[in-house]
Amino acid sequence: MATLVKDVQLPKKIPKLLLAKHTAFIAAYGKNKDDYMYCMTEHLRMSGIYWGLTALDLMGNLDETNKDEVLEFIGKCQSDCGGISPSINHDPHLLYTLSAVQVLCMYDALDVIDVDKVVKYVKERMQPDGSFTGDNWGEVDTRFSFCAVATLSLLGKLDEINVEKAVEFVKSCMNFDGGFGSRPGSESHAGLIYCCLGLLSITGHLHLVDADRLGWWLCERQLPSGGLNGRPEKLPDVCYSWWVLSSLTILGKLHWIDKNKLLEFVLACQDTETGGFSDRPGDMVDPFHTLFGLTAVSLLEADSKLKPINPTYCMPEYIIERLGIKPTKLER
Ligand SMILES: [Zn+2]
Repeated sequence: MATLVKDVQLPKKIPKLLLAKHTAFIAAYGKNKDDYMYCMTEHLRMSGIYWGLTALDLMGNLDETNKDEVLEFIGKCQSDCGGISPSINHDPHLLYTLSAVQVLCMYDALDVIDVDKVVKYVKERMQPDGSFTGDNWGEVDTRFSFCAVATLSLLGKLDEINVEKAVEFVKSCMNFDGGFGSRPGSESHAGLIYCCLGLLSITGHLHLVDADRLGWWLCERQLPSGGLNGRPEKLPDVCYSWWVLSSLTILGKLHWIDKNKLLEFVLACQDTETGGFSDRPGDMVDPFHTLFGLTAVSLLEADSKLKPINPTYCMPEYIIERLGIKPTKLER
């Protein structure tokens, strides 16, 4: 008997990339401030803004949003300690601090926040072992290591921390399968592998990775439907497709997976009526999966009409170039 693989069935007809519909979907999202979904997502509003604006920028439609309103909102979300919160009157966190800095870099408008205070906040999150806590409450996770290093590098302030120490902690989270988890000894997970590779890419330490072993683990995430999962035994998901795909790109091993099959899976996750992408074909669409659907297409298809995406920062490549930052990648 064949082993049962958890997977999904793709529809017979795969839609092409519906750019106009995705622009309309993102532009409408958040316009109605009484909307149920809008109220329910307040705790991650800042990341929502980053997902939506990055998606629009990739599609060449960044001017569909109210720039002044966004900048004013971000300015109000910086707290006295320097960190940035997901929304006004919420607690600051490294996750939202990075999202805010990414958006401000897109708009070339870092002057709406106090950059020195952001740097101070990020530095205060660093622990003696080189790990980072996400906020004042102390939870350590390699996601926060990435947020800290990405934020500082976008601000041109990476030299404000002990980079070698931060790298050492990430290295201590490397597993026998070549992957990375959230802390030393934690199971490998595609999202955390992306974070750890991102940190090593920014700091120029990719030589520490066993690229063949890790590339193999990442390729095994591709299922018969073409979609990628984040861990063994899990269903495929558009967001994991991005984290695996960006990791393979950083490792110079994008050609190890079946790109055409993955592209079919991602395109099948579009809602052909409302626009937007969902995690799997037929599910509810949202801005989070819409961004990662578009970024995946941008990496997979050079002539997709989308702007090129930088795999390390998940930001349009032209902005990373404008900032003069050079995250490293391994050669194919
Ligand atoms: Zn997902």
